[in-house]
Amino acid sequence: MSFQPVTIPISGSCPVCCADISPAGSVEESEVLSCPECQSLLVVEGFEGCSLVLREGPSVEEDWGE
Ligand SMILES: [Zn+2]
Repeated sequence: MSFQPVTIPISGSCPVCCADISPAGSVEESEVLSCPECQSLLVVEGFEGCSLVLREGPSVEEDWGE
């Protein structure tokens, strides 16, 4: 057995191109995903119900504050 942070199907939309983002596995806050459409890096800000709150991530740098 293992703990899953998120077990329900969640999805969000890319803040850059509005594409549908549906991570295959579980996602945690502050995890970085990439948009399948525009390849932007997206940071998981949190969750609203079954929706992912995504923010455009840093281009290359890792240090983007909190
Ligand atoms: Zn996108």
